[in-house]
Amino acid sequence: MSLAPDTWEQAGQLLQPPPPAAAAERFRALSLADLLDALEATHQQLAARPGLPLQDSDLPGIALALLERPFLPPAAGPSQELGSERDQLRHAADTLRHRLVGDTVTYVVNRNLNTSNHCVLRCQFCAFRREAGEPGAYRLPPEELERRAEEACRSGATELCLQAALDPDARLGGSHLAFAADLLRRLRRAAPDLHLHAFSPQELLFIAERDGVSLETVLAELQAAGLGSVPGTAAEVLSDAVRRLICPEKLSARAWVAVILQVHRRGLASTATLMAGHVEGAADRAAHLLSLVAIQRQARRLGLPGFSEFVLLPFVGAMAPAPLRRRVGRDQPDPSAMLLLTAQVRLLLGPAFPHHQPSWVKLTLPVAAEALRWGCDDLGGTLMEEHITTMAGALGGIRQTPAALRAAAARLGRPVRERTTLYGRPLSAIP
Ligand code: SF4
Repeated sequence: MSLAPDTWEQAGQLLQPPPPAAAAERFRALSLADLLDALEATHQQLAARPGLPLQDSDLPGIALALLERPFLPPAAGPSQELGSERDQLRHAADTLRHRLVGDTVTYVVNRNLNTSNHCVLRCQFCAFRREAGEPGAYRLPPEELERRAEEACRSGATELCLQAALDPDARLGGSHLAFAADLLRRLRRAAPDLHLHAFSPQELLFIAERDGVSLETVLAELQAAGLGSVPGTAAEVLSDAVRRLICPEKLSARAWVAVILQVHRRGLASTATLMAGHVEGAADRAAHLLSLVAIQRQARRLGLPGFSEFVLLPFVGAMAPAPLRRRVGRDQPDPSAMLLLTAQVRLLLGPAFPHHQPSWVKLTLPVAAEALRWGCDDLGGTLMEEHITTMAGALGGIRQTPAALRAAAARLGRPVRERTTLYGRPLSAIP
């Protein structure tokens, strides 16, 4: 097994099950104000007792009750009261954001590199993957990636974000690890100052399993080659019932947690994501968010970097494989539902997750900007080129200029500043 036995063991403890309906029972009848008060008190209790297991707190029941609550859109609400609950929730999430990180909106100048879409898996939601020789299949040569890295550097980028499909031929001398490490070294030579945010937990595990080496070996080698942090994608929904429907071949929820624990243990930060708005229910969302809280609490307790931010990734179905698209019955995310979830997530993840980011690629920039009023504080990256979600039919475009991101924040009357990947100040911004 490529995963370290101790992190596999810990992952089994930290991965949270969907809360049973009975756990939410006593919270369902509460007014929203009382439910949010109970949530705040629970976060305080968990902060004061870092060793308290989540299962022994009220968080699972509160999470389920909040995620199940019928916050009807104002126009469809049969009563003033239901419509106003959305406003109350938005206000609570916005207030928590203000308390934790202030009003400043951040963004990062980065370039996305989706290096290959050849893939050995067939996830049910994926419109990006191709077989070799199929129309639309591509693999960018290392020299082209170096050229794009240099170009990004000249455009003022501070980060390269690398994510790809699981390409069976991404090998050097027969080794996937040698290929990945060589790629990072080339990018480092081409653009020495750029932070390398690369390889999802699924990609890392693929490299280890294909080469028959430990994940520890993979991480050590990639870190030596310049890996700076890891995207927390491939989490989808950390519920095996959901994964069986949307990505049965992908790493399990427990394996995703185990990889992330090893990433954090190496001193590398990762992001945290949730792909939402497809077949998952409130209990699945609750399990996912509770697992993220459990991992972050452990990281804080051990003084590890943990998650640097949370990114909500709404499902885009327009070009997704037909069975899932038909089942979901919607081509684009429902902005109203995703804004509501944005606020619920901000409140449920609580103080341990200061930074929340909407996806302008999936939501469009105007909706992503609106998410800044629902608990988000960050607009993500300029990307310069995005392919994975765009091939799924997303309408947000493939790039943003810093000026467009700044203008979106300014329209809300909020201050705005550029950040680095890990929320520091870029050297260019230090007087
Ligand atoms: S989501 Fe990733 S792993 Fe799954 S089929 Fe698409 S490219 Fe492959």
